[in-house]
Amino acid sequence: MEQKLKELQSQALEKIAAAANLKELNDVRVAYLGKKGPVTEVLKGMGKLSAEERPKMGALVNVVRETISKSIEEKQELLEAAAIEQQLAQESIDVTLPGRPVKQGSHHPLTRVAEEIEDLFIGMGYTVAEGPEVEQDFYNFEALNLPKDHPARDMQDTFYITPELLMRTHTSPVQVRTMQKHEGRGPVKIICPGKVYRRDSDDATHSHQFAQIEGLVVGENIRMSDLKGTLDVFAKKMFGEDREIRLRPSFFPFTEPSVEVDVSCMCGGKGCSICKGTGWIEVLGAGMVHPNVLEMAGFDSNKYTGFAFGMGQERIAMLKYGIDDIRHFYTNDLRFLKQFSVHE
Ligand SMILES: [Zn+2]
Repeated sequence: MEQKLKELQSQALEKIAAAANLKELNDVRVAYLGKKGPVTEVLKGMGKLSAEERPKMGALVNVVRETISKSIEEKQELLEAAAIEQQLAQESIDVTLPGRPVKQGSHHPLTRVAEEIEDLFIGMGYTVAEGPEVEQDFYNFEALNLPKDHPARDMQDTFYITPELLMRTHTSPVQVRTMQKHEGRGPVKIICPGKVYRRDSDDATHSHQFAQIEGLVVGENIRMSDLKGTLDVFAKKMFGEDREIRLRPSFFPFTEPSVEVDVSCMCGGKGCSICKGTGWIEVLGAGMVHPNVLEMAGFDSNKYTGFAFGMGQERIAMLKYGIDDIRHFYTNDLRFLKQFSVHE
């Protein structure tokens, strides 16, 4: 019997050593230590032994059981560790692999220009003001010194919705609305960006919808020289420190006097295709706010004066980036837009 137990033990240990995974190891456990296993069978046969032999054999069976189960435990630990190692190896990530690039969008060139202009004027103490694109005739025309039947209304071909309601032709109604809110008290210092609409045929330089940005300053002792100084700073910041501006007399119903403002060309005055040989590029219109406009907005024109200027965002962007067709801004051609994907 003792011999049989020894054999069982060495058989079991061999199989434990040979077990390649946890399932095989468990099969060995069940086969040798289970209720129907050979060790249990030996215990059952103990009754036939003599009283002297019984304790001796009992101790031996226990030793065999413990040896086998201890060996199984050790093997189990080994197999479990190996399984974890294997799993880790499978799940490992190669951090040296180059990543897949994420396609990033970019700001539209018009947005970039508008933000740049806004930042510049915010830095000079202006605030940004906005207003509705569907506007009342009063704010778009009448309050800007353009009563009904005024011939200058023809300067801006208008999309009318009703006789009193229209798509705004400029961002100037925002100036009127802002002045009204001030109830006759200065100072007012705003920059108004936004979309405007004109009944124009689309071509390389015209669009029925475009974007303007206007500025308005109203206060005591605001002079033409303040306007000129402000626009000089604008031109230098926007186009380069070596740029100059010049003012030419012009006419707008809402300013008096009115001027067209030119910026010196990047060719340095030698003349090129951009300036059509003149050395100057027209960039915006401006002037001193007409007393009628101040009065209609509730300001005392004897006490207050002001200046206003307005420009097309497209025109500024075209000059700044050398774009030759206004339609590029609206057709969403990625080949065009990607050229402005500088990540700031
Ligand atoms: Zn030029």
